[in-house]
Amino acid sequence: MTKKMNVESFNLDHTKVKAPYVRLAGTTEGINGDKIFKYDIRFSQPNKEHMKMPSLHSLEHLMAELSRNHHSQIVDISPMGCQTGFYLSIINDESYDNVLDLLEKTLNDVLKADEVPACNEIQCGWAASHSLEGAKELAANMLQKKDEWTQVFADDSN
Ligand code: ZN
Repeated sequence: MTKKMNVESFNLDHTKVKAPYVRLAGTTEGINGDKIFKYDIRFSQPNKEHMKMPSLHSLEHLMAELSRNHHSQIVDISPMGCQTGFYLSIINDESYDNVLDLLEKTLNDVLKADEVPACNEIQCGWAASHSLEGAKELAANMLQKKDEWTQVFADDSN
């Protein structure tokens, strides 16, 4: 890595991380003291594998809708363009454990879902690109490795 960049994740060495993991990527404080905590939720090992677009897209819809049943301060859940994970932003809740708990509950809900919410041309920008089965597979794989979520780097000493 050479020069420090504006975007936090551009300063992260993606060759050193070990997916899956949940990592606090940054905190932004507003003028009134409100704090937004942004998490890097990595499903796939960078530059080795990635999520297929229809599966990723359906998982995005499912997590966006279902996560809000478990937490009232979610600002946003968005997929990364590299298709290896999601960003989750939460306001005024600094608890990392709450995020782990939220993710576990949400992914379990995904496994039980019988449809992808809002996968139609009125509510979505690419309604043809969805896979409920694919989303469930991603959720199941992530849940299976829950013990690894707190370890971000392959080498523990980092
Ligand atoms: Zn959509």
